[in-house]
Amino acid sequence: MGPQASGKGTQAEKIAQQYGLLHFSVGDFLRAEVKKRTELGRKAEKIMDEGGLMEDEIIFGIVKQEVSQHPDGVIFDGFPRTEVQAQMLHEIVPINAVIDIKIHDEIAVKRISSRLVCSKCGEGYNTISQPPKKEGVCDNDGAPLIHRDDDVPEAVRHRLELYHKETEPILAYYRNEGVKVFDINGEQRIDKVFEDIKEAIDSLQV
Ligand code: AMP
Repeated sequence: MGPQASGKGTQAEKIAQQYGLLHFSVGDFLRAEVKKRTELGRKAEKIMDEGGLMEDEIIFGIVKQEVSQHPDGVIFDGFPRTEVQAQMLHEIVPINAVIDIKIHDEIAVKRISSRLVCSKCGEGYNTISQPPKKEGVCDNDGAPLIHRDDDVPEAVRHRLELYHKETEPILAYYRNEGVKVFDINGEQRIDKVFEDIKEAIDSLQV
């Protein structure tokens, strides 16, 4: 878990590789649906552009399917985002640990303004911490880099507000349920954040 631009996606990708897990980002899944112009995508587009949250039941249906298809383990990125989602998840799968990447709101806003994604493959970049090899184009496929539609200041502020109101309370829920919650300082270099996460995961007796 972590607020917008805390590095959830970047770290989840690394964790998935290191531990052989599926990296599942609900946000990426929804963006793919928007691109495909499916019914779900059309619904998601409006909500995402406003910086809102999709309905818990819809999100849970998507997650449930992923869990059933990947019995070896999944690292969720951006899920659960509400206590209802956390409760639903708890009923179908045991949670080993929660990784909470902490950054201040001002840092999140600053990072988001320098965040870019590939218009074709969706690969993420940051003009300060993770620049592409060639300015403005994707390293993978040479397609132009753009700002995400929901990375406009108005939507970002709304997403941060929702994070504090709806998502942060989940940490207390997990602590109550006896799930180990690791607090990670997300304001360090990407590789240092990953080192701290690895240390936390390796300390688990799974
Ligand atoms: P992300 O890429 O994780 O920042 O997600 C982008 C957007 O997708 C969010 O701002 C929400 O509109 C939607 N979304 C992603 N994950 C969830 C979730 N677990 N519950 C509800 N909406 C979500």
